[in-house]
Amino acid sequence: MPANSSGYGTVQFALKVQNANIEMRAQLPQGAVSPTVLLPILQSLSNSLCELTVQTASRLGEQLSCREGCGACCRQAVPISPVEARAIAEWLDQQPEERQAVLRRRFRRAVARLEESGIAQEIRDRKDLADRAAMHELGLRYFALGIACPFLEEERCTIHEMRPLRCREYLVVSPAKHCAHPATKEIVGIKPPVLLSQILAGWDTNGETRPPELILLTMLEEWIAKHPAEQDRPCRTSPELLQEFLRAFAKDAADAPSDPRGAPS
Ligand code: SF4
Repeated sequence: MPANSSGYGTVQFALKVQNANIEMRAQLPQGAVSPTVLLPILQSLSNSLCELTVQTASRLGEQLSCREGCGACCRQAVPISPVEARAIAEWLDQQPEERQAVLRRRFRRAVARLEESGIAQEIRDRKDLADRAAMHELGLRYFALGIACPFLEEERCTIHEMRPLRCREYLVVSPAKHCAHPATKEIVGIKPPVLLSQILAGWDTNGETRPPELILLTMLEEWIAKHPAEQDRPCRTSPELLQEFLRAFAKDAADAPSDPRGAPS
């Protein structure tokens, strides 16, 4: 990765997924870095994978129902990775004070509702994230509380450019009216061939792999308080981190089903 005078180098790579080539190009810093520096390129890759998924579904006769101004799914529990938690928290810290106060008040209210319901403690105690039935049931109880995402305003996402990977990957082709009633099981989704959110969930902010833990977007501030930024110790270079991520990507891409239809991710 040749560096320019500002200490950044350009990386270029192409990924083959379901007979499509996705070409990526990004500027990455030299030296040991935190994995948060990879987030913009992963967000861009996620957008490309979602576009590919929508195109494949369209050829199969399915049209995406998701539209700007529809925030029905933004009352769901949104799991995020440690890397995303760190990046969103940093973004929040950089907002003007008044805006921060509004958003932090919403986070506090959301957590208060989760505490009242007992779900906050369940989330802290949950260890087995692979139990899909239990996770689904917890998700339904969370949704029933009607807690809007702190970033949702007038049914629009106010952090669209940096919204979590999980939000990007949630793609629905059934009528939007069903999204307000997830318990009825009438929601039909399409799934990107590789879920970047799942790969990233296993990375901690030191770039080491570890068992995924459940971090909810609404409980972001609690996770940050327990994992202060000072604990981060950049230990690998951006090409090393990128290569590690792309190895995991290639493994998942090799097993990807060709038909994206099913439950939303
Ligand atoms: S981050 Fe944006 S897209 Fe994701 S749940 Fe919140 S408002 Fe919705």
